[in-house]
Amino acid sequence: MTAQEIRNSYLKFFEERGHKVIPRALLVPQNDPTTLFTGSGMQPMIPYLLGETHPEGVRIVDSQTCLRAMDIEEVGDNRHTTFFEMIGNWSLGDYFKAEQVPWMWEFLTEVVKLDPSKLYITCFIGAPEYDIPKDTEAAGMWQKLFESKGLSSGVADIGSEEDGYRRGIKDGERIFYYDGSKNWWSRNGNPEKTPVGDPCGPDSEMFYDFGTPHNPEYGEHCHPNCDCGRFMEIGNNVFMAYRKEAEGKFVPLEKPNIDHGSGLERIAAAALDDPDVFKISVMWPIVQKLEAISGKRYDSHQESMRVIADHLRAATFLAVDGVVPSNKEQGYVMRRLLRRAIRFAFELGVEQNFLQDVVPVIADLYVDDYPEVKENREKVIEVLVKEEKAFRQTLRKGIAEMQKMASGELSGADIFRLYDTYGFPVELSTEEAAIKNVELAKDWREEFDEQMEEQRERSKTAAKGAFKGGLGGHTMQHKKYHTATHLLQSALRQLFGPELRQHGSNITEERLRFDFNHDAKLTPEEIKQLEELVNGWIAEDVPVKFTEYPTQEALDMGAIGPFGERYADTVKVYQMGPDDHIVSLEICGGPHVDHTGQLGEDGKKFKITKEESSSAGIRRIKAVLQ
Ligand code: ATP
Ligand code: MG
Repeated sequence: MTAQEIRNSYLKFFEERGHKVIPRALLVPQNDPTTLFTGSGMQPMIPYLLGETHPEGVRIVDSQTCLRAMDIEEVGDNRHTTFFEMIGNWSLGDYFKAEQVPWMWEFLTEVVKLDPSKLYITCFIGAPEYDIPKDTEAAGMWQKLFESKGLSSGVADIGSEEDGYRRGIKDGERIFYYDGSKNWWSRNGNPEKTPVGDPCGPDSEMFYDFGTPHNPEYGEHCHPNCDCGRFMEIGNNVFMAYRKEAEGKFVPLEKPNIDHGSGLERIAAAALDDPDVFKISVMWPIVQKLEAISGKRYDSHQESMRVIADHLRAATFLAVDGVVPSNKEQGYVMRRLLRRAIRFAFELGVEQNFLQDVVPVIADLYVDDYPEVKENREKVIEVLVKEEKAFRQTLRKGIAEMQKMASGELSGADIFRLYDTYGFPVELSTEEAAIKNVELAKDWREEFDEQMEEQRERSKTAAKGAFKGGLGGHTMQHKKYHTATHLLQSALRQLFGPELRQHGSNITEERLRFDFNHDAKLTPEEIKQLEELVNGWIAEDVPVKFTEYPTQEALDMGAIGPFGERYADTVKVYQMGPDDHIVSLEICGGPHVDHTGQLGEDGKKFKITKEESSSAGIRRIKAVLQ
């Protein structure tokens, strides 16, 4: 069965069982400012799972397009994509386990015709401390179904993921009990983390065994939740049976809900019995097009082709949903996906515009099933092709920059800077240097690696929450200069563009010092403009506030941090100015004043006292409030 056939037969299967088919929600959530994207089928259903009445009734089915920017680093493996479709069905206080489990079985084994001997199941082990029983009910249902096909149906306790790696699977085992870290659903995770007042419950996941050999790098033994790739999680059934009434207290819901979501791409891979989701009917034509354009083979260029295919498919759907590339929020993620795809294309030797050839192939995979793709096809192609052209100009600027830098020879530091500021892959810099007859410094590799390493070191420091580089002081004077530093960076970027970034900062009681990439000495006129901008924001007296975000979300929002910085899982984002007039948005440990007017107390003004070169391509400003 093709992915398209699986999607359509799933919708039909549940429609025949009394479900109303609803259209997908847009990738950009309409009424939820807390997240950038729709990341699961359940997300748009949350109000109804919390008790609101759904206008279409109590049995709902759909195929929800999802975008998980968080998974970007995982793209390149055999089963993760940033964009995917989740097929889902819901019972809003109507049917429960006794219907859902056999229906899933029937759909997977009779409709999609997956070999039942390759299916494995996980269930919740129970939480005696909260009087939540082991889900023997669901396990028993699955057992009967396996037995009906004459298959083994051994049940085993595992517990945590670590327990799984220690224990592995024994002969004849098919159903496994895991703890709350794996088989409990709430908006925040395990029973302890479940928000008081929220519905929650055990879940039961379905895995397909591709039979590939276990990779012991992941752990000693293989088990369904092992990441080696042998078992692929295809879907999850949530049995929303409880409400957390108070800390430690879970009460059964009178009318429990079912929430099921499966990855369409993964079921399609299982249907082909091939553990590579890029081989399925809605992916492979994209890969084939990339093979044709590049003259390279997928087998020897898997990672790049996977990244390009995924990112362009994601960007296509973002464009269908009205997102345009920009420097913030959804538009920024879209831009990042496109740039990454274009950069990876260099590894295939594709340096010319190629989106005009690939995007139509992607759109055509969906035009029959999603009318909005058909309607917007031409516009989508236009938006993406335009962004590609613009990015290639940035790349060209980078190349020009490179030639300027390399009046003598190109150093590792230069190559590192091109890598970070202009998004130049290392190979691009070295190849370009060869074409332009620019010598490479003998030790460029060492120096480049060193700078990468330094970047990693800085990240560790940041991860510990310890901010070095002059950000240690907490006196009022420090706070003022620290805040002024953000304003200065904003002013510089306003004047010279978004490529400009902090390359170092140092603050004392007496002054601030700020290093940034820029290739010319500032003119007296430019210095005056910078001072005017900063003093303008001080006079406006805009509020300064911070919010903690998951790092990826912060970056996706367009928050900037120092060049080369790496971050902990969550970061503080300082915003200066109200939401409709953001003066500065930076990832920073603080501390800052509460409103910018404090910098102008006692009639003080921001003044640049010195502007000089710090190193090749890096300028340094010293400034005071006086
Ligand atoms: P994984 O552990 O494989 O990352 P998950 O636990 O994040 O999966 P869920 O949040 O439970 O997955 O999502 C439900 C289903 O959606 C999964 O069973 C899987 O089939 C599919 N899915 C999740 N993330 C991705 C992804 N990045 N690419 C493709 N399919 C996905
Ligand atoms: Mg995941």
